[in-house]
Amino acid sequence: MKSFKITTLPGDGIGPEVMDAALAILGLVGSEYELNFEIITELAGGASFDKFNEPITESALQSCLESDAVLLGAVGGPKWDNLPQNKKPEKGLLKLREVLGLFSNLRPAKIFAPLADASSLKKDVIVGSDVMVVRELTGGIYFGEPRGHNKQEGFNTLRYKKYEVERIAKVAFELAKKRNGHVTSVDKANVLDSSQFWRDVVHEVHQDYKDVPLSDMYVDNAAMQLVRDPKQFDVILTQNLFGDILSDITAMITGSMGMLPSASIGENHAMYEPVHGTAPEIVGLNKANPIAMIGSVAMMLEITLNQPEAAHRINMAIETVLEKGIRTIDIASPNSTIVSTDGMRNEIIHAFQDSDQSIKSSRELVKE
Ligand code: NAD
Repeated sequence: MKSFKITTLPGDGIGPEVMDAALAILGLVGSEYELNFEIITELAGGASFDKFNEPITESALQSCLESDAVLLGAVGGPKWDNLPQNKKPEKGLLKLREVLGLFSNLRPAKIFAPLADASSLKKDVIVGSDVMVVRELTGGIYFGEPRGHNKQEGFNTLRYKKYEVERIAKVAFELAKKRNGHVTSVDKANVLDSSQFWRDVVHEVHQDYKDVPLSDMYVDNAAMQLVRDPKQFDVILTQNLFGDILSDITAMITGSMGMLPSASIGENHAMYEPVHGTAPEIVGLNKANPIAMIGSVAMMLEITLNQPEAAHRINMAIETVLEKGIRTIDIASPNSTIVSTDGMRNEIIHAFQDSDQSIKSSRELVKE
């Protein structure tokens, strides 16, 4: 029996609610595929601050470092908004990304056909779009020194080293190659020196991936093009700040923040988390959509744990449930059946179990 150590950081707000749903699916995967998941739960964000006065502790970080993968819910909320910068929940997340060396953030935004009506964009604009944002995660303006503010000024530094651009560009080209797609590198090279540098390095790396088409786009244009015609994009490669903003725009193509999984990957570690935050206004109401968190488990199974069939079955189960018109409130449409977080979890579990039968029968057919 294969064994995997997974550290879970449910975090704050709806984080623990969606994590519970995700772990139920993971448990099912474990029993069906004879995989042993050793689950270690640690605190992160506001929950960690409340108990340890730190947004993440050394022992939580150590557990993550020793794990095959980390699952994170979400951190933050109004309760901790006024803490000093170094105690804020988000600081715990930044520390985690830094310590684990998670330099690439992959955010797929694929339209689930039954949800096309949930998007604020027109159906014919979005149906068929399948965008993967590859965001650089441990460099750029979020980490650059010097930084600071006083009563007269505030400043941050945007700096990229060559190796940082090279390694993230390779991730984007490799992904585009697997998807038979193309890369759009997004920058602001008409204004920023750091962006001209980014563009030069991306083109240098491209010499090793000549079969993958590459184009450049300014970030302001990219924001506009994403809502005008998202189908023109396949893999979007971009720096930390631009990726943060553009991936929220791509999120809305799919209709709800509650739908989007993500992966953060480094040389030796990986963390999977939904794109959404802690949704303070629906905490404890059993209303949170668990699909992004469950989709993050599917990404973990596929990318880090090498279990593509289980991952595919989870994604198919999600699609089946949506096709039946079953929805959490955030993605509800006029004729849909509204379910709670637990209800959505149970529906996905049933669809996953049913897909076992169809996989078994198709295996029987192949044998015959
Ligand atoms: P949010 O993603 O929490 O919420 C945005 C909107 O989407 C809200 O209307 C919310 O109710 C809805 N929503 C989000 N996830 C949902 C889900 N799974 N099901 C149903 N509806 C969902 O973003 P926000 O309001 O800007 O931030 C709230 C808190 O979360 C803040 O403290 C912020 O710092 C934190 N946050 C954390 C992360 C993270 O941990 N990675 C990411 C974003 C925001």
